[in-house]
Amino acid sequence: VTTSTQTPRPTKKSKPATSSLPYADLCQLFETIESESSRLTITNLCTAFFSRTLQLDPSLLVPVTYLCINKLGPDYSGVELGLGEGLLLKAIGSACGVSQQQLKLQYRKLGDLGQLAMSTRVLQPTITMFKLEPLTITKVFDTLAKIAASQGKDSQNQKINMIKRLLTSCQGVEAKFLIRSLESKLRIGLAEKTVLTSLARALVIHEKGNDNIQDDDYSNAEQIIKDSFCQIPNYEIIITTSLQYGVSQLASHIKLTPGIPLKPMLAKPTKSISEVLDTFQNIQFTSEYKYDGERAQVHLLPDGSMRIYSRNGEDMTQRYPELNIQDYLVDSTTTTQLILDCEAVAWDVELQKILPFQVLSTRKRKSVDLKDIKVRVCLFAFDILRHNNDSLINNTLRERRDILHSITKPCPGQFQFATELTTSNLDELQTFLDKAIKDSCEGLMVKSLDGTDSHYEPSKRSRNWLKLKKDYLQGMGDSLDLCVLGAYYGRGKRTGTYGGFLLACYNQDTEEFETCCKIGTGFSDEMLQTLYNGLKETAIESPRANFVFDSSAEPDVWFNPTMVFEVLTADLSLSPIYKAGSTVYGKGISLRFPRFIRIRTDKSVNDATSSEQVIDFYENQSHLQS
Ligand code: ATP
Repeated sequence: VTTSTQTPRPTKKSKPATSSLPYADLCQLFETIESESSRLTITNLCTAFFSRTLQLDPSLLVPVTYLCINKLGPDYSGVELGLGEGLLLKAIGSACGVSQQQLKLQYRKLGDLGQLAMSTRVLQPTITMFKLEPLTITKVFDTLAKIAASQGKDSQNQKINMIKRLLTSCQGVEAKFLIRSLESKLRIGLAEKTVLTSLARALVIHEKGNDNIQDDDYSNAEQIIKDSFCQIPNYEIIITTSLQYGVSQLASHIKLTPGIPLKPMLAKPTKSISEVLDTFQNIQFTSEYKYDGERAQVHLLPDGSMRIYSRNGEDMTQRYPELNIQDYLVDSTTTTQLILDCEAVAWDVELQKILPFQVLSTRKRKSVDLKDIKVRVCLFAFDILRHNNDSLINNTLRERRDILHSITKPCPGQFQFATELTTSNLDELQTFLDKAIKDSCEGLMVKSLDGTDSHYEPSKRSRNWLKLKKDYLQGMGDSLDLCVLGAYYGRGKRTGTYGGFLLACYNQDTEEFETCCKIGTGFSDEMLQTLYNGLKETAIESPRANFVFDSSAEPDVWFNPTMVFEVLTADLSLSPIYKAGSTVYGKGISLRFPRFIRIRTDKSVNDATSSEQVIDFYENQSHLQS
């Protein structure tokens, strides 16, 4: 990733790798954070731990960071734990010599596999009798990675044996956090944002020493680390490059890389063409069709292969076996590396036209076989972010478009350029919007075209990109994507399925789900049945510690949050029952007359509409009313 010829900084304080940081120390940090609510205190605790890690052995900071965010590698690597309850119960039973029946009984009472493992383990004198080697960070991280990688027919037993060996060496709270990590449910209230801030601070301390830090050193470093992470969401690269060159030099040593999906730029909602014209007063802008499909970041790697990543950076290449980037290059000898931003849309081959989003969602998400494909997909390219060795995010949109059009060529029904129009005439814009809708698009994306305002801003929901969705012009300007936390049993015609659902937005700072409405409108009987079948498996005995709700809206069944609904609302109002944005307003913000539109299969619960966005919607609305 590093491209500079500059000599690397010698890593001053690093000692030879000792790999002996006890796992118990990290678990003690987790235990303290779990009972702490102040963001600032949590940041300080994390910073101190990361600094200590750096002093001891800088190479340990990568596994420590991953253990803190409960992952084993970058999202795009697809390495995941998330082991099921059944397997973990077997491992705990086997390590502690307790029957499954006994364990399940106890689990029902505790509702937390981590607590269960800890309490069951303490009760077993036979295994606590022997003094075993204490667990180290390296040992735990490496074993978790082996467990995640274990495949094949005996993998279940291999996983159980590896977990059993770790559990046998656990002391005190280690068992609790080990099991929660294996489940991918650490749930200590440590947001990834806080981890990034703490990393930046610890790296500054490591570089400058505590006494030489200036006022803005921390804030500068935080900005650099966050911006760099949006371009290269890989902790190993960010940490090792920072250690090598210093945080202040990080930005010049990392570069968009084919094979590493950057976090995509996002748009702000708008409610009318006149609002667009107001926002872009004196700014040259351009409009494009807003295609209704799934975001597809298309990469061409130096070896000639192609990768397609989703909005979340998930590798979706196998979902689109009919697409081949080599066919869309003007000259494959001169273009060897590319990153394009596109929308993948369902395509009617006979009628040569776009099909609705619902058709695309009928297609399997992974491992699609070419011969089974019924729904074709066409890529609509709207941006280019890297060409060969050049990162283009700091070029203007006008320049990026010119490059896109000069090095790639349309291939009808497979690869096309987004339809565009550059005008600031209200009537022309209205006609273009109508035409977009007639051509089965959701509306328009309106983008700043020239100057620094038109640079590509990874991960940012930017004012320089406005979305104008036809359906929502009269309402909020946009729909909301909310997590399903619980359900109410159906009555009358809906008996036998759930009749309504409790929804929440996601607070990215606190990692809490804040309830914002009950919903029972917009569902077909068929959809209710599908939802019942899909959600009943995710039912949990009691609400999670990070669900923020009022007892008067308690549902009949709670769920492990996995599903996101796209929801339309008449407007937002303050409510004593719901909790969205209550950290800011005291009272929560809730949706009035919410209506279900669809399940968002391309969004995970962490990508749901954030509390911050709900507050934005609310404030924008009161501003308009006043
Ligand atoms: P958000 O990304 O804002 O949370 P979302 O995923 O629900 O919301 P939309 O509100 O539909 O997405 O708006 C942005 C999305 O529109 C982009 O992520 C992209 O997938 C899609 N899109 C379609 N056409 C374009 C275009 N011409 N330019 C940019 N994005 C486009």
